[in-house]
Amino acid sequence: MSLSEIQTRLTAAEAACGRAPGSVQLIAVSKVQPLERVVAVLNAGHRLFGENYVQEAQAKWPDLRARFGAVQVHMIGPLQTNKAKVAVELFDAIHTVDRLSLAEKLAKLAQTRGACPELFVQVNTGAEPQKAGILPVDADGFVATCRAMDLAPAGLMCIPPEGEDPEPHFAMLAQMAARNGLSGLSMGMSSDFEVAIAHGATHVRVGSAIFGARTYG
Ligand SMILES: *Cc1c(COP(=O)(O)O)cnc(C)c1O
Repeated sequence: MSLSEIQTRLTAAEAACGRAPGSVQLIAVSKVQPLERVVAVLNAGHRLFGENYVQEAQAKWPDLRARFGAVQVHMIGPLQTNKAKVAVELFDAIHTVDRLSLAEKLAKLAQTRGACPELFVQVNTGAEPQKAGILPVDADGFVATCRAMDLAPAGLMCIPPEGEDPEPHFAMLAQMAARNGLSGLSMGMSSDFEVAIAHGATHVRVGSAIFGARTYG
């Protein structure tokens, strides 16, 4: 478990680009990790986690929250509309608002509940056909549509194309957020979180560098 090493690198990356200490939140991505690794990170004092699957999170976090107290869990995986209701009860933030039908569903739930998790609009910065997310050309309009539905997105999220230099994607997302008056930037993973911080990331999503490699079974 190298949580402390990642925290040290994160703090150094903040300092290197003149950002205030604590301006970047470290989301420990615990999807499909063995429970003992998650418990070790909780025991080390970490309290912010990311999950990709509603069912897995539902099976894990109510119990861990009962044991460890206030833990924030962020949804960072694709969210089916029919799981949105469970998701808004379970998660403190949803990073993957990637289509109109989901935004509409979340807006309805927010009306009924009088509360809504923090929301990030996922942008498909590489315009990859197989990848979820709003296309860059549609992002400004989508943010406006969300606001017209009384949703108040906190920021934008992206997953750069695999095997490409992520830097232009981080720069594009930061520009897009700035021109839409959004302060949140969810970008950067194990291999590139320092680059993302240099481009203004407020939330980095780090899995394998903290927990070790994932084994899907
Ligand atoms: C799994 C996942 C991560 C973490 O990836 P690592 O490379 O293990 O750090 C970050 N973001 C998203 C959206 C993911 O699905």
